[in-house]
Parts: sequence; C-alpha cells; structure tokens
Amino acid sequence: MADVPLSLDDVHELAFTCLKTHGCDEANANAVAGTIMAAERDGAASHGLFRLPGYVAALKSGKVNGAARPTMRTLSPGVLQMNGDGGFAPLSHQRSRDDLAACARTQGIAALAIINTHHFSALWAEVEPLAAQGLCVFAFTAFKPAVAPAGGSRPLFGTNPMAFGWPRPGRNPVVFDQASAAMARGEVMIAARDGHELPAGVGVDADGAPTTDPDAILKGALLPFGGHKGSSIAMMVELLVAGLIGEAFSFEAAARDNNDGGPPQGGELMLAMDPGRFGDADGWAQHAEGLFEQMTAQEGVRLPADRRYGNRQRTLKEGITIPESLHATI
Ligand code: NDP
Repeated sequence: MADVPLSLDDVHELAFTCLKTHGCDEANANAVAGTIMAAERDGAASHGLFRLPGYVAALKSGKVNGAARPTMRTLSPGVLQMNGDGGFAPLSHQRSRDDLAACARTQGIAALAIINTHHFSALWAEVEPLAAQGLCVFAFTAFKPAVAPAGGSRPLFGTNPMAFGWPRPGRNPVVFDQASAAMARGEVMIAARDGHELPAGVGVDADGAPTTDPDAILKGALLPFGGHKGSSIAMMVELLVAGLIGEAFSFEAAARDNNDGGPPQGGELMLAMDPGRFGDADGWAQHAEGLFEQMTAQEGVRLPADRRYGNRQRTLKEGITIPESLHATI
C-alpha cells in the first residue's frame, strides 16, 4: 500500500479532530495532538499517529477523562504535585512546566510528581522544553508489565523510560530518552505490524525461550537492556514513579486497567535543576561544551537527540508520510 503524505499541520489537525470527535475537549485534544505532532516531526513514529487508535480506545471505554482539569499543589518547598484528574498526561505537562521551572530557579532543584494521568508518549518531548529554558532535567515513567527482571521470564516491569536533558545556551539541548527494555514496546509492535524480525536479545516467548519473532515477544516478555544493569534501572523507575509518589507500580496499573488498548493510569516523576545554582554559576555551560567537543571529535560519535533535530529540520520543510492502513484507521 502507498504511504500518505502529510504536512505537520495536517498531522496536528488529524489528531486534534479525531480526539475531539471521540470525547476530548479542546484543551486536552490540543495538548495530545501537540505531542503526536512533535513525535512525527522528529521521526519518532512509534509515539506519533500510530498511538491515536489507543488514545481513542481509552476515551471510548470511559477509562480516560477527555475533559480533565489538572490541579497543582505544593507538597513541600521544592516538591510539586500535579493531579491529572484522570486525563492524558500532555495537558498536565503543559500546565505544570512553568511552575516546575520557577521552583527549580528559586530552590536550585525541584521535583514534580504527576499522579492520576495516562501516559502514552515519549519523554523527550517533556524534558526538552525545560532544558531549552536552561534547566537540567530528568523524567521517569512506568507502564504495564512488559519486561522480565534479569534472570526471570515473566513480565513485571514496564518498559520504564527515563529521559535526561542538558541545556546548551544558544543551541538545542542534549537529550537522551531511553526505555529500560532492550527495545521499546512500540517498536516491537511496529515490527509485528510490518512483519520484521527483531535482533536477538530483545525478548523471550511465552515459555521463556529466546526468540526474534515480535509477535511471540508480545505474548512473552521483553528483556531489560544490559542484563542486570537495565533491570536495576527498571526497578528504580518503578520505585520513583510509584513507591515514592504514591502511584501504581506497573503490575498494579495492569490489575486495574481495562485493557482497551490505551494507556493505564500511572505516575511520572520529573526533576529539574538550575545549573547556575550548583557552584559553577559562570562556567558550567562552557565547561560542558568541552565534554561534547571531546565526544564528537571521535569519528562515529554523535550526541543523543541529534537524529531527532535532523529529522525536525527536514520534516518542517517536507512533511511526513504515514502508512495508508494507519491513515484509513484514523
Ligand atoms: P532508542 O534506543 O531508539 O534511543 C534511546 C536514546 O539513545 C535516544 O535519546 C537516542 O537519541 C539515543 N541514541 C540512539 N542512538 C544513538 C547513538 N548512536 N549515539 C548517541 N545517542 C544515540 O529509544 P528507546 O527504544 O529506548 O525508547 C523509545 C521511546 O519510547 C522513548 O522516547 C521513550 O520515552 C518511549 N517510551 C515510552 C513509554 C511510556 O510508557 N510512555 C514506555 C517506553 C518507552 P536520538 O533520538 O537522537 O536517536
């Protein structure tokens, strides 16, 4: 089947209209459409329009509040809590960003616990705007069980991504955003859809046997990246986004989820730091550039996020294409 060409405005409009038609109010539809458009713009198709049927399923089943009004509380100096009112995460992010940035500037460091939301997007889109404002940022979230702990064969951890953003005055921030699974589940779903085999080490089948078949992995378990090291990071993410902030572990989120194909309810933790408040107020930015220069002086090395920024430059001019089958579904 032929691919369908779309401008980035088309992407936003398609997502916005679809979400509004199925129960999002304007503010929520606009916030979710913005993250979908950003994913398509940066070449992160696994978190773009591909997710729209899942968002719609969660609205139609009544699991997610399409008219959510997130509310902010200060729990203690430097600790903010956003209650997402049972909605999708993007509106909570949009409406907490300025408060988190202001708190980090006042305190030097600030934490934001986001509770009672449904998260279905990539984390870089959440750390990049804060890093672009001059802050050093972390974000963590969980999902439903997909990853077996090191040595095990049954899903327990979510794919549990963590993202980090480093500000570079006058330039795009350095951002990495990675699942603690050997591969993000969205990528495995895309491989299953397109009939592609996966590399060894990504997952095991329902009997715990290693396999490269994406369908078999979706019925079995993903493996953590880097064996026990990725497993510990996945465990840490569970503790930060559930144990620390009073939200659900991935296995608890799954137990209360209706399996409509949309995201379960869960939590997210963000940390923001003002580099100017940690002792090297005048020199931190230049000092970090020295590290990036040393890295990129080696042949074959690039900085994380540079692939996305390159895609962005291209798609802003040329737009994107999506599979005809996805376009028809939407
Ligand atoms: P990747 O393994 O594709 O990339 C991870 C990071 O490494 C990216 O920041 C990427 O930057 C960087 N990177 C990749 N190759 C290189 C390289 N050669 N040199 C330097 N940096 C490099 O991502 P994952 O598959 O682990 O995760 C995909 C997405 O899935 C993430 O955005 C994550 O937030 C999302 N996710 C969301 C979940 C949810 O519940 N909401 C659950 C799990 C994952 P670049 O982008 O520039 O390539």
